[in-house]
Amino acid sequence: MKEDGLLPPFSHLYVEEDLLESTWSGKVTQLCNRFGKAVVVPVRSFQEVTQRRTARWNDQKRSPKLVIARKRGELIYPCSEVAPNFGHPHFYYAVPMQNCLYDCEYCYLQGMYTSPNLVYFVNQEEMIKRAVELARELGELYLCIAYDNDLLAMEGALGVTAEWVEGLRNHPSVTVEVRTKSANFAALKKLAPPTNFILAWTLSPEPVIRQFEAGTPGLEARLKSLKAALSAGWRARLCLDPLLPVKDWPTVYEELFRRLDQEELWQALEDASYGPFRMPKQLLRQARKARPDSALLHSAQSREERGLMTFGGTDQERLLEYVGTELRKRMPTDKVWT
Ligand code: SF4
Repeated sequence: MKEDGLLPPFSHLYVEEDLLESTWSGKVTQLCNRFGKAVVVPVRSFQEVTQRRTARWNDQKRSPKLVIARKRGELIYPCSEVAPNFGHPHFYYAVPMQNCLYDCEYCYLQGMYTSPNLVYFVNQEEMIKRAVELARELGELYLCIAYDNDLLAMEGALGVTAEWVEGLRNHPSVTVEVRTKSANFAALKKLAPPTNFILAWTLSPEPVIRQFEAGTPGLEARLKSLKAALSAGWRARLCLDPLLPVKDWPTVYEELFRRLDQEELWQALEDASYGPFRMPKQLLRQARKARPDSALLHSAQSREERGLMTFGGTDQERLLEYVGTELRKRMPTDKVWT
């Protein structure tokens, strides 16, 4: 028990009971062994755990449990048209893991899922197979696998990214983006760099990280990991998203560009994307319930764009313009996405 009266993270593993007698039983056993001290609790369906409303969301977030389940139904989904598609007409996403170890105040997952418990889906292979099929049907596929999670943050324990890399290494018609705020490239460094994967680091100025991105590695640690990935021959994207017009934002974001310039990364990066905070109205309503004390979530209501709520006021506009301009000074225009 921790000092705050909460159980340590992953004290319990909830496992869908039919998996214990299935072709995935070996994989489930391996995972249970990896979390050796966890109490294993069979459940009928993962929703029994993820849709419980008894525990307070914040407490669950500080003491998350791992749920092992099988993903059923559709395995690959089309992406929303409001997200940049990086020039790929067939822009899809998959959810190999649901929820995230980190605790960003602006995260839309807190509006999407009633519980912050992490769900790992054992049938990764089926999802990979479906991605290959879909690429065959469409001619090519651009797939994001880390929108509803941060896979690299859990790579040491779950190895999801590595499984997808090896599963798709010989399928160049599928390009995969793995977005992360982690400093955990080390977990992938034994792999030969695949040509069809892009590791996309979300970087934020240090004051933004401290104020709004609880539990995430600091800027320097993320930068070090991004540099290590580039040195090892991986394709890497820079994501400055969401841009938050915090106090003294001109100085704060200027300092971020100054720091990035010192690293001389611009030529090596695949491309860059940037964007404001935005969240669908319904998710924002739920997120506010999960985090009633968040000034940030409560102020994001004065402006609606393409069905998404964002901040009103000129600072947001000026910040977007500033970051777009600075990126285009450093990279070709066709490599800057918004
Ligand atoms: S890292 Fe991404 S997925 Fe994780 S809490 Fe932050 S915004 Fe959400």
